[in-house]
Amino acid sequence: MGKVRTRFAPSPTGRMHVGNLRTALYAYLIAKHEGGDFLLRIEDTDQERLVEGAVDIIYRTLKATGLKHDEGPDKDGGVGPYVQSDRVKSGIYMEYAKKLIEKGEAYYCFCDKERLESLKQEVAGKEIMIYDKHCLHLSKEEVEEKLKAGVPYVIRQNNPQTGTTTFHDEIYGDITVDNSELDDMILIKSDGYPTYNFANVVDDHLMGITHVVRGNEYLSSSPKYNRLYEAFGWEVPVYVHCPLITDETHKKLSKRCGHSSYEDLIEQGFLTEAVVNFVALLGWSPEDNQEIMSLEELVEKFDYRHMSKSPAVFDYGKLKWMNGEY
Ligand code: GLU
Ligand code: ZN
Repeated sequence: MGKVRTRFAPSPTGRMHVGNLRTALYAYLIAKHEGGDFLLRIEDTDQERLVEGAVDIIYRTLKATGLKHDEGPDKDGGVGPYVQSDRVKSGIYMEYAKKLIEKGEAYYCFCDKERLESLKQEVAGKEIMIYDKHCLHLSKEEVEEKLKAGVPYVIRQNNPQTGTTTFHDEIYGDITVDNSELDDMILIKSDGYPTYNFANVVDDHLMGITHVVRGNEYLSSSPKYNRLYEAFGWEVPVYVHCPLITDETHKKLSKRCGHSSYEDLIEQGFLTEAVVNFVALLGWSPEDNQEIMSLEELVEKFDYRHMSKSPAVFDYGKLKWMNGEY
């Protein structure tokens, strides 16, 4: 394999959760352990979820914790992150969606709200909508006509309805789904913006990402990502999903507990070094079981193959101990 390249791809939606910091740290450690590159990509295409100041929090936190990112086109010609909202303007996502249309792997869908509503069905008490590929069967001329007339459209992926897709994760193993369960997901929305999944895959490919590190809430949607790689004929990166972080009562760590973000912890008087050290051990431990490690030592020892898939418990007492409090 060539140079290892990882990325941290946060959505700027608030404070930097401990889980986000761990994702950034693991991506950094995987890259630096191999002498590779660690990139930063701001995933800000979902305008409704943006929180003011959140991008600055990301920059500040990465800087304070020493997780320096490597490259990225910057308006001033210097080193800066990749920012998806800037990339939308350059038209790349549309360009790649059109490539899939040419290959027969995607198609324009002009269905209106009423038609989509009528496709909804109740399955096990939940309302779901599996698109029926209606617009896949439009002729080229019909499509041209509608485009010319300015009929609103989305671009959908043309998923096969038979066979299976297997997704491999380094921590959780193989996950196989029936293709019939995969909806023809939207790639480009009616406002011309890419959907989250689509932009994510296109960018990981264009940025040359070899290892995708992220939280396990994305595990179940991962087969969809595989299908996109297959449709493009691109090599699938190595996926490393990190385990859930829980509080001491084994519930998902939430804002309510008051120490779920990096800023919370700093405000409570913890030292950055202690927090980084502590976060590194939420789901991984070195072979020699050393507990107190600097960032350099973490780089030297980190091996994602020794990550755990069971939830990691946020042990506040242990953090205090690491902070030298007793
Ligand atoms: N933007 C996503 C988040 O902040 C990360 C997705 C990914 O790393 O692939 O949760
Ligand atoms: Zn349609």
